Amino acid sequence: MNLVARVRETALQQPSKTAYHFMGKDTSYAEFDQTIARFASALREQGVEKGDHVAFLLGNTPHFLISLYATMRLGATAIPINPIYTPDEISYILKNSDAKAVIALDMLLPLVEKAAGAFPSVHTYVICETSSDTGEKLAALPEGLRGKVKSFTQLVMAASPDVLPVEIDLDDNAVILYTSGTTGRPKGAMLTHGNLFSNARDTADYLGFAASDKVLATLPVFHVFALTVVVNAPLLKGATILLVPRFSPQDVFDMAKEQQATVFAGVPTMYNFLYQYPQTNVEDFSTIRLAISGGSSLPVALLHNFEEKFNVRISEGYGLSEASPVTCFNPLDRDRKAGSIGTSIINVENRVVNELGEDVEVGEVGELIVRGPNVMKGYYKMPEETAATIRDGWLYTGDLARIDEEGYFYIVDRKKDLVIVGGFNVYPREVEEVLFAHPSVVEAAVIGLPDANFGETVHAYVVVKDEGLDTEALSNYCGEHLAKYKIPRSFEFLTELPKNTTGKILRRSLKDQALAK
Ligand code: AMP
Repeated sequence: MNLVARVRETALQQPSKTAYHFMGKDTSYAEFDQTIARFASALREQGVEKGDHVAFLLGNTPHFLISLYATMRLGATAIPINPIYTPDEISYILKNSDAKAVIALDMLLPLVEKAAGAFPSVHTYVICETSSDTGEKLAALPEGLRGKVKSFTQLVMAASPDVLPVEIDLDDNAVILYTSGTTGRPKGAMLTHGNLFSNARDTADYLGFAASDKVLATLPVFHVFALTVVVNAPLLKGATILLVPRFSPQDVFDMAKEQQATVFAGVPTMYNFLYQYPQTNVEDFSTIRLAISGGSSLPVALLHNFEEKFNVRISEGYGLSEASPVTCFNPLDRDRKAGSIGTSIINVENRVVNELGEDVEVGEVGELIVRGPNVMKGYYKMPEETAATIRDGWLYTGDLARIDEEGYFYIVDRKKDLVIVGGFNVYPREVEEVLFAHPSVVEAAVIGLPDANFGETVHAYVVVKDEGLDTEALSNYCGEHLAKYKIPRSFEFLTELPKNTTGKILRRSLKDQALAK
């Protein structure tokens, strides 16, 4: 069984069931499957074959779902790229991934026009229409480009719904996801059909996804968290995806209410925005049976505040691109533990080890390592990085963690973010948790700065609601909750913290800026 076959099965068994809802319109599994087949035929006619790489520059529109499933159906490999990356970042990935075709949103047409000559290996660009004048723009392309740049809509309309069957092996690559991983330049994590299918199934089973679920999809679909949790897992269970093109609290609440959403998945930044949003009331999330958090650590204060305000239970989980991504979640049938990423999901093993790869004692900090059918095949064309990351069948995550007596894991921090002050370890997360619990602190990030006496000192960035809150007050407050060496030596007040598109606070760029000063 693979994901493509599963969607086909649902289309046969429950043809009229809604696969996804977008811009006020429902699309059934039968229609979805038909469009996948047509687009797969069209890509085939454009010369895309089994094993070829197809890059996506797409956001949360149906084009992504159709392109992903059509590409997988051909046995080709999808390379989802964040469409708002800079041209340099995009071109690095297009070159490194050896993409043969590119499927892009129409707003990227100017970029595609420029790129069309720059990547000899790319033979086809497919432009997905989201605005009414795209057809005209495509028709106005110079003669030389028109053969290479095609309209998604026209390709689908003209294509046959009969795709030549392609044998898909569970070990074939389904997607390659570019991630900066633990260090260095972006690396392409190769995830197979087996990886994606097992992780979607095991996550869905662990979290009790059912066909009756309506899952809000506002996390960016090109990121692995969304790919498995709000795309593949719901489709595997025959559930409905509610596509929210861009995250905004109003859009999320409106969609939840209108469509009676049952599952919400977000990163902590989203929970913070939803919580802080002034025009909300409890009913907004009253149909949500499960709220999922992942991607970075959910501050405990935020978890409690959110649950109280919306009367909903949050289950925090953990994952990384290299593990398709989910390895842990808080269980639904036992007590959820705030601040923990929960226990190992079905079929996946997690361990906390020391530098020698030996298990540490309960409560001690070590590196989290993972084994299971969800672990990637390796990094594309990077055997050395692969060998350094997967050792003896275990994926080394680069995250520091501890485990309690009941098998719950706690992410302490990323290994490389650890701050060492005069020989003492300071985990930025611990300090951030304290700052976050202050009623006037909206966001916080902590880094280490070089110091002649102590090696490093703790520096905190904060976004505050109350302008009267100054360094002294915050420092005194931290002193009530933290050992002296953990108290930030300096504070910087910002209006917003830098984040990537998946909402992760960019500690690294804060540090680079601080060091450049
Ligand atoms: P990515 O490959 O972009 O999904 O990033 C994976 C990284 O996100 C992990 O290695 C962790 O550092 C971080 N991460 C994911 N989930 C959590 C979580 N619940 N708590 C803390 N860090 C997390």
